[in-house]
Amino acid sequence: MAQRKGIILSGMRPTGKLHLGHLVGALDNWIKLQDTYDCYFLVADYHVLTTGFEKSAEIPGNIHEMVLDWLAVGLDPERAKFLIQSRVIQHCELNLILGMITPMPWVERNPTIKDMIADMGLGGKIHYGLMGYPILQAADILLYRADLVPVGEDQVAHIEMTREIARRFNHLYSSVFPEPRAKLTRVSRLPGTDGRKMSKSLGNSIHISDDDENVRQKVRRMVTDPQKVRRGDPGRPEVCSVYAYHQIFNKEETGEIAENCRTGALGCVDCKAKLAGALGKVLDPIRERRGEFEKNPDQVRQILSDGSAAASKRAGETMRLVREAMGMVY
Ligand code: SF4
Repeated sequence: MAQRKGIILSGMRPTGKLHLGHLVGALDNWIKLQDTYDCYFLVADYHVLTTGFEKSAEIPGNIHEMVLDWLAVGLDPERAKFLIQSRVIQHCELNLILGMITPMPWVERNPTIKDMIADMGLGGKIHYGLMGYPILQAADILLYRADLVPVGEDQVAHIEMTREIARRFNHLYSSVFPEPRAKLTRVSRLPGTDGRKMSKSLGNSIHISDDDENVRQKVRRMVTDPQKVRRGDPGRPEVCSVYAYHQIFNKEETGEIAENCRTGALGCVDCKAKLAGALGKVLDPIRERRGEFEKNPDQVRQILSDGSAAASKRAGETMRLVREAMGMVY
Protein backbone atom coordinates (compact mmCIF):
# COMPACT_ATOMS: atom_id res chain seq x y z
CA MET A 1 0.00 0.00 0.00
CA ALA A 2 1.27 3.49 -0.85
CA GLN A 3 2.53 5.66 2.01
CA ARG A 4 -0.43 7.55 3.52
CA LYS A 5 -0.19 11.27 4.16
CA GLY A 6 -1.60 11.21 7.67
CA ILE A 7 -4.57 10.25 9.81
CA ILE A 8 -8.03 11.68 9.21
CA LEU A 9 -11.03 11.40 11.47
CA SER A 10 -14.48 12.29 10.25
CA GLY A 11 -17.91 11.13 11.25
CA MET A 12 -21.66 11.42 11.10
CA ARG A 13 -24.48 11.03 13.54
CA PRO A 14 -26.59 8.05 12.52
CA THR A 15 -30.05 9.54 12.07
CA GLY A 16 -31.13 7.35 9.14
CA LYS A 17 -30.91 7.54 5.38
CA LEU A 18 -28.60 10.17 3.98
CA HIS A 19 -29.60 12.81 1.45
CA LEU A 20 -27.94 14.51 -1.48
CA GLY A 21 -26.68 17.26 0.82
CA HIS A 22 -24.59 14.64 2.64
CA LEU A 23 -23.32 13.32 -0.67
CA VAL A 24 -22.01 16.63 -1.98
CA GLY A 25 -21.21 18.11 1.45
CA ALA A 26 -19.14 15.27 2.86
CA LEU A 27 -19.21 11.86 1.22
CA ASP A 28 -17.77 12.89 -2.15
CA ASN A 29 -14.86 14.35 -0.23
CA TRP A 30 -14.40 11.26 1.97
CA ILE A 31 -14.23 9.09 -1.14
CA LYS A 32 -11.27 11.13 -2.38
CA LEU A 33 -9.54 11.09 1.00
CA GLN A 34 -9.72 7.34 1.60
CA ASP A 35 -7.00 6.73 -1.01
CA THR A 36 -4.43 9.14 0.35
CA TYR A 37 -4.98 9.19 4.12
CA ASP A 38 -5.53 6.69 6.89
CA CYS A 39 -9.23 7.42 7.35
CA TYR A 40 -11.36 6.65 10.37
CA PHE A 41 -15.05 7.16 9.56
CA LEU A 42 -16.97 7.38 12.79
CA VAL A 43 -20.59 6.34 13.30
CA ALA A 44 -21.21 8.79 16.12
CA ASP A 45 -24.02 7.00 17.94
CA TYR A 46 -23.32 8.53 21.35
CA HIS A 47 -23.63 11.96 19.79
CA VAL A 48 -27.20 11.13 18.78
CA LEU A 49 -28.04 10.83 22.49
CA THR A 50 -27.05 14.45 23.14
CA THR A 51 -30.33 15.58 21.59
CA GLY A 52 -32.26 12.36 20.94
CA PHE A 53 -31.81 10.17 24.01
CA GLU A 54 -35.49 9.21 24.07
CA LYS A 55 -35.19 7.65 20.62
CA SER A 56 -32.23 5.39 21.37
CA ALA A 57 -34.05 2.28 20.09
CA GLU A 58 -33.99 3.78 16.58
CA ILE A 59 -30.20 4.02 16.51
CA PRO A 60 -29.37 0.45 15.31
CA GLY A 61 -31.69 0.73 12.30
CA ASN A 62 -30.39 4.20 11.53
CA ILE A 63 -26.79 2.99 11.67
CA HIS A 64 -27.60 0.25 9.18
CA GLU A 65 -29.27 2.67 6.75
CA MET A 66 -26.46 5.22 7.02
CA VAL A 67 -23.71 2.67 6.50
CA LEU A 68 -25.56 1.20 3.52
CA ASP A 69 -25.42 4.70 2.04
CA TRP A 70 -21.69 5.00 2.82
CA LEU A 71 -21.01 1.73 1.03
CA ALA A 72 -23.34 2.54 -1.84
CA VAL A 73 -21.60 5.82 -2.70
CA GLY A 74 -18.20 4.12 -2.80
CA LEU A 75 -16.64 4.36 0.64
CA ASP A 76 -14.53 1.27 0.94
CA PRO A 77 -13.94 -0.60 4.21
CA GLU A 78 -10.79 -2.09 2.65
CA ARG A 79 -9.29 1.38 2.43
CA ALA A 80 -10.87 3.11 5.46
CA LYS A 81 -12.04 2.04 8.88
CA PHE A 82 -15.76 2.28 9.60
CA LEU A 83 -16.25 2.30 13.35
CA ILE A 84 -19.10 2.62 15.78
CA GLN A 85 -18.29 5.05 18.57
CA SER A 86 -19.92 2.98 21.31
CA ARG A 87 -18.03 -0.16 20.19
CA VAL A 88 -14.71 1.54 20.97
CA ILE A 89 -14.92 2.00 24.72
CA GLN A 90 -11.91 4.32 24.82
CA HIS A 91 -14.07 7.17 23.45
CA CYS A 92 -15.75 7.24 26.86
CA GLU A 93 -12.48 7.02 28.79
CA LEU A 94 -10.82 9.84 26.93
CA ASN A 95 -13.99 11.94 27.04
CA LEU A 96 -13.98 11.63 30.83
CA ILE A 97 -10.32 12.58 31.16
CA LEU A 98 -10.55 15.54 28.78
CA GLY A 99 -13.66 16.70 30.63
CA MET A 100 -11.55 16.95 33.80
CA ILE A 101 -9.02 19.31 32.22
CA THR A 102 -11.30 21.49 30.08
CA PRO A 103 -12.31 24.78 31.72
CA MET A 104 -16.06 25.37 31.71
CA PRO A 105 -15.88 28.74 29.87
CA TRP A 106 -14.33 26.95 26.87
CA VAL A 107 -17.45 24.80 26.68
CA GLU A 108 -19.87 27.65 27.29
CA ARG A 109 -18.51 29.84 24.53
CA ASN A 110 -19.07 27.17 21.87
CA PRO A 111 -21.23 28.90 19.24
CA THR A 112 -22.75 25.66 17.95
CA ILE A 113 -24.27 24.87 21.32
CA LYS A 114 -25.86 28.30 21.46
CA ASP A 115 -27.28 27.75 17.95
CA MET A 116 -28.57 24.29 18.85
CA ILE A 117 -30.26 25.57 21.96
CA ALA A 118 -31.94 28.32 19.92
CA ASP A 119 -32.84 26.08 16.91
CA MET A 120 -34.29 23.33 19.05
CA GLY A 121 -36.07 25.68 21.45
CA LEU A 122 -34.33 24.00 24.35
CA GLY A 123 -34.29 27.07 26.58
CA GLY A 124 -33.35 25.95 30.07
CA LYS A 125 -33.80 22.24 29.30
CA ILE A 126 -30.20 21.53 28.42
CA HIS A 127 -28.68 18.27 29.50
CA TYR A 128 -25.17 17.78 30.74
CA GLY A 129 -24.33 15.52 27.78
CA LEU A 130 -25.28 18.19 25.25
CA MET A 131 -23.16 20.82 26.98
CA GLY A 132 -20.26 18.37 27.00
CA TYR A 133 -20.52 17.26 23.39
CA PRO A 134 -17.57 19.40 22.18
CA ILE A 135 -15.37 17.48 24.61
CA LEU A 136 -16.68 14.15 23.33
CA GLN A 137 -15.97 15.42 19.83
CA ALA A 138 -12.43 16.36 20.85
CA ALA A 139 -12.01 12.87 22.35
CA ASP A 140 -13.23 11.31 19.09
CA ILE A 141 -10.51 13.14 17.17
CA LEU A 142 -7.65 12.89 19.66
CA LEU A 143 -8.26 9.21 20.38
CA TYR A 144 -6.84 8.40 16.94
CA ARG A 145 -4.17 11.13 17.19
CA ALA A 146 -5.64 12.45 13.96
CA ASP A 147 -3.62 14.98 11.97
CA LEU A 148 -6.51 16.36 9.99
CA VAL A 149 -10.25 16.76 10.23
CA PRO A 150 -12.11 17.63 7.02
CA VAL A 151 -14.47 20.52 7.71
CA GLY A 152 -16.15 23.44 6.04
CA GLU A 153 -15.29 27.04 7.03
CA ASP A 154 -18.15 27.16 9.54
CA GLN A 155 -16.73 24.30 11.60
CA VAL A 156 -13.21 25.56 12.05
CA ALA A 157 -14.07 26.78 15.58
CA HIS A 158 -14.76 23.17 16.64
CA ILE A 159 -11.34 22.08 15.56
CA GLU A 160 -9.79 25.05 17.32
CA MET A 161 -11.30 23.87 20.60
CA THR A 162 -9.93 20.36 20.05
CA ARG A 163 -6.52 21.89 19.41
CA GLU A 164 -6.77 23.88 22.65
CA ILE A 165 -7.69 20.77 24.62
CA ALA A 166 -4.80 18.81 23.05
CA ARG A 167 -2.40 21.65 23.86
CA ARG A 168 -3.63 21.77 27.45
CA PHE A 169 -3.20 18.04 27.94
CA ASN A 170 0.28 18.11 26.39
CA HIS A 171 1.23 21.06 28.59
CA LEU A 172 -0.13 19.54 31.82
CA TYR A 173 1.35 16.07 31.31
CA SER A 174 3.47 15.30 28.27
CA SER A 175 3.14 15.50 24.57
CA VAL A 176 0.74 12.77 23.49
CA PHE A 177 -1.56 14.46 21.03
CA PRO A 178 -0.71 16.12 17.73
CA GLU A 179 -2.78 19.28 17.34
CA PRO A 180 -5.21 18.31 14.60
CA ARG A 181 -5.64 20.74 11.77
CA ALA A 182 -8.80 21.54 9.88
CA LYS A 183 -8.61 20.26 6.35
CA LEU A 184 -10.68 22.90 4.69
CA THR A 185 -12.90 21.57 1.99
CA ARG A 186 -15.00 23.54 -0.43
CA VAL A 187 -18.41 22.34 0.60
CA SER A 188 -21.18 22.47 -1.96
CA ARG A 189 -24.40 23.51 -0.30
CA LEU A 190 -27.63 22.16 -1.69
CA PRO A 191 -30.95 23.73 -0.80
CA GLY A 192 -33.89 21.50 0.06
CA THR A 193 -36.64 20.98 -2.51
CA ASP A 194 -38.55 23.89 -0.94
CA GLY A 195 -35.56 26.23 -1.17
CA ARG A 196 -34.85 26.14 2.58
CA LYS A 197 -31.88 24.39 4.16
CA MET A 198 -32.01 20.68 3.35
CA SER A 199 -33.03 18.86 6.47
CA LYS A 200 -34.64 15.58 7.37
CA SER A 201 -36.98 17.27 9.84
CA LEU A 202 -38.27 19.69 7.17
CA GLY A 203 -39.13 16.82 4.80
CA ASN A 204 -37.43 18.62 1.91
CA SER A 205 -34.65 16.13 1.18
CA ILE A 206 -33.89 13.92 -1.77
CA HIS A 207 -32.35 10.77 -0.34
CA ILE A 208 -29.44 8.96 -1.87
CA SER A 209 -31.56 5.78 -1.76
CA ASP A 210 -34.77 7.25 -3.24
CA ASP A 211 -35.96 5.32 -6.29
CA ASP A 212 -36.23 6.97 -9.67
CA GLU A 213 -39.97 7.69 -9.44
CA ASN A 214 -39.60 9.18 -5.99
CA VAL A 215 -36.78 11.45 -7.20
CA ARG A 216 -38.88 12.59 -10.17
CA GLN A 217 -41.83 13.41 -7.92
CA LYS A 218 -39.65 15.40 -5.54
CA VAL A 219 -38.00 17.28 -8.41
CA ARG A 220 -41.42 18.12 -9.89
CA ARG A 221 -42.37 19.74 -6.58
CA MET A 222 -39.18 21.79 -6.29
CA VAL A 223 -39.54 25.56 -5.96
CA THR A 224 -38.26 27.64 -8.85
CA ASP A 225 -38.10 31.35 -9.61
CA PRO A 226 -41.54 32.60 -8.49
CA GLN A 227 -41.49 35.24 -11.25
CA LYS A 228 -41.36 32.59 -13.96
CA VAL A 229 -44.89 31.28 -14.22
CA ARG A 230 -45.10 30.19 -17.86
CA ARG A 231 -42.59 28.79 -20.28
CA GLY A 232 -42.10 32.08 -22.18
CA ASP A 233 -41.49 34.15 -19.00
CA PRO A 234 -37.86 35.16 -18.47
CA GLY A 235 -36.45 33.43 -15.37
CA ARG A 236 -33.62 34.03 -12.91
CA PRO A 237 -31.57 30.85 -12.48
CA GLU A 238 -29.61 32.44 -9.64
CA VAL A 239 -32.67 32.33 -7.36
CA CYS A 240 -33.85 28.89 -8.46
CA SER A 241 -33.25 25.69 -6.45
CA VAL A 242 -33.48 23.55 -9.55
CA TYR A 243 -30.64 25.49 -11.10
CA ALA A 244 -28.54 25.06 -7.94
CA TYR A 245 -28.88 21.29 -8.46
CA HIS A 246 -28.01 21.55 -12.15
CA GLN A 247 -24.80 23.34 -11.16
CA ILE A 248 -23.71 20.32 -9.16
CA PHE A 249 -25.24 17.33 -10.93
CA ASN A 250 -25.48 18.52 -14.53
CA LYS A 251 -22.49 20.84 -14.94
CA GLU A 252 -22.14 20.43 -18.73
CA GLU A 253 -25.58 21.88 -19.40
CA THR A 254 -25.65 24.75 -16.92
CA GLY A 255 -24.61 27.45 -19.40
CA GLU A 256 -27.31 26.51 -21.85
CA ILE A 257 -29.94 26.11 -19.13
CA ALA A 258 -29.16 29.51 -17.63
CA GLU A 259 -29.39 31.22 -20.99
CA ASN A 260 -32.59 29.51 -22.06
CA CYS A 261 -34.14 30.17 -18.66
CA ARG A 262 -33.37 33.88 -18.95
CA THR A 263 -34.77 34.19 -22.47
CA GLY A 264 -37.83 32.13 -21.66
CA ALA A 265 -36.94 29.45 -24.22
CA LEU A 266 -36.83 26.82 -21.45
CA GLY A 267 -39.83 26.05 -19.25
CA CYS A 268 -39.56 24.83 -15.67
CA VAL A 269 -41.28 21.52 -16.42
CA ASP A 270 -38.66 20.63 -19.04
CA CYS A 271 -35.86 21.97 -16.89
CA LYS A 272 -36.96 19.73 -14.03
CA ALA A 273 -37.18 16.71 -16.33
CA LYS A 274 -33.56 17.37 -17.36
CA LEU A 275 -32.55 17.50 -13.71
CA ALA A 276 -34.38 14.27 -12.84
CA GLY A 277 -32.52 12.62 -15.74
CA ALA A 278 -29.16 13.94 -14.54
CA LEU A 279 -29.84 12.77 -10.98
CA GLY A 280 -30.78 9.34 -12.32
CA LYS A 281 -27.37 9.04 -13.97
CA VAL A 282 -25.65 9.84 -10.67
CA LEU A 283 -27.90 7.71 -8.49
CA ASP A 284 -28.43 4.60 -10.62
CA PRO A 285 -25.03 3.01 -9.88
CA ILE A 286 -25.36 4.03 -6.22
CA ARG A 287 -28.77 2.35 -5.98
CA GLU A 288 -27.38 -0.75 -7.61
CA ARG A 289 -24.52 -1.03 -5.11
CA ARG A 290 -26.88 -0.33 -2.22
CA GLY A 291 -29.16 -3.11 -3.42
CA GLU A 292 -26.29 -5.57 -3.29
CA PHE A 293 -25.37 -4.67 0.28
CA GLU A 294 -29.05 -4.63 1.34
CA LYS A 295 -29.21 -8.31 0.46
CA ASN A 296 -26.40 -9.01 2.88
CA PRO A 297 -26.93 -7.32 6.27
CA ASP A 298 -24.45 -9.69 7.93
CA GLN A 299 -21.71 -8.33 5.69
CA VAL A 300 -22.54 -4.77 6.81
CA ARG A 301 -22.42 -5.84 10.47
CA GLN A 302 -19.08 -7.55 9.87
CA ILE A 303 -17.64 -4.42 8.24
CA LEU A 304 -18.57 -2.39 11.31
CA SER A 305 -17.30 -5.04 13.67
CA ASP A 306 -13.94 -5.31 11.86
CA GLY A 307 -13.57 -1.53 11.57
CA SER A 308 -14.38 -1.03 15.25
CA ALA A 309 -11.88 -3.72 16.25
CA ALA A 310 -9.14 -2.13 14.14
CA ALA A 311 -9.95 1.29 15.57
CA SER A 312 -9.86 -0.12 19.12
CA LYS A 313 -6.22 -1.07 18.62
CA ARG A 314 -5.21 2.49 17.83
CA ALA A 315 -7.49 3.80 20.60
CA GLY A 316 -5.99 1.37 23.13
CA GLU A 317 -2.49 2.51 22.24
CA THR A 318 -3.51 6.15 22.69
CA MET A 319 -5.00 5.44 26.11
CA ARG A 320 -1.81 3.66 27.16
CA LEU A 321 0.12 6.80 26.24
CA VAL A 322 -2.40 8.97 28.06
CA ARG A 323 -2.20 6.94 31.27
CA GLU A 324 1.59 6.88 31.14
CA ALA A 325 1.72 10.64 30.58
CA MET A 326 -0.56 11.16 33.58
CA GLY A 327 1.39 8.73 35.75
CA MET A 328 -1.72 6.61 36.20
CA VAL A 329 -0.20 3.21 35.55
CA TYR A 330 -1.09 0.63 38.19
S1 SF4 B 1 -36.24 27.19 -16.23
FE1 SF4 B 1 -35.06 25.97 -14.82
S2 SF4 B 1 -33.54 27.36 -13.94
FE2 SF4 B 1 -35.17 28.61 -14.89
S3 SF4 B 1 -36.58 29.02 -13.20
FE3 SF4 B 1 -37.36 27.24 -14.29
S4 SF4 B 1 -36.50 25.51 -13.19
FE4 SF4 B 1 -35.34 27.32 -12.60
